[in-house]
Amino acid sequence: MSFVVAIDGPAGSGKGTITKLVGDKLNLINIDTGATFRCVALAMLDNKIGLDEEEKIKELLNNIKIDLTEENGKQKVMLNGKDVTLEIRTPKVNEFVSPVSKLKIVRENLLILQRKMAEGKNVIMEGRDIGTSVFPNANVKIYLDATAEERAKRRLKQNKENNIKGSYEEILESIKSRDNQDSNREISPLRKAEDAIYVDSTNMTIEEVTDYIIEIIKKVK
Ligand code: C5P
Repeated sequence: MSFVVAIDGPAGSGKGTITKLVGDKLNLINIDTGATFRCVALAMLDNKIGLDEEEKIKELLNNIKIDLTEENGKQKVMLNGKDVTLEIRTPKVNEFVSPVSKLKIVRENLLILQRKMAEGKNVIMEGRDIGTSVFPNANVKIYLDATAEERAKRRLKQNKENNIKGSYEEILESIKSRDNQDSNREISPLRKAEDAIYVDSTNMTIEEVTDYIIEIIKKVK
């Protein structure tokens, strides 16, 4: 039996940071499903595969190997044996990942992978459709939100720390565009599950959000 905490929300809502902190405190394995979509997008870019090349995408998905691991307390993303932790966060992947994640074949494949990653484990899983589609029976569901401006500000700070270029305006535009595509796609759009707890983190510190979510989980655990 596994215990699943689902954290959904738009780009830059702090899901990554919060999931890591809550997971570490409560001993839950952290699974970043966005990283799995980013790996597929990067692999398609690297192999020059277009969005309409279904056969090539199928072949790529059949042979892809995505591993989410941890090294020195930091998440590490491996794609076909190569460390792509930073490369999957670059603007070219940011732009391509939403159109890629719309594709039925990609979602079907990654759904299986994501469920497998959680099998028999106690996990905290972040994404867009965890509470609605990947684990509709998750033990705890959180929908983490913040205004687009606040999210862009946070992403800018994070990018600077990782030496990723881009102005505040570019980031805001990219976040809004991704939200729009992720919320309006046909399959598993970004949406708050009916039974998810809505958390608006715009005026909250990281510690406040972390403590609040830990309290919610402890009540159920
Ligand atoms: O969470 P992150 O911003 O890294 O996710 C990158 C993209 O992957 C999202 O913008 C979305 O298009 C896609 N995604 C998704 N379903 C998930 C997680 C991410 O469609 N569960």
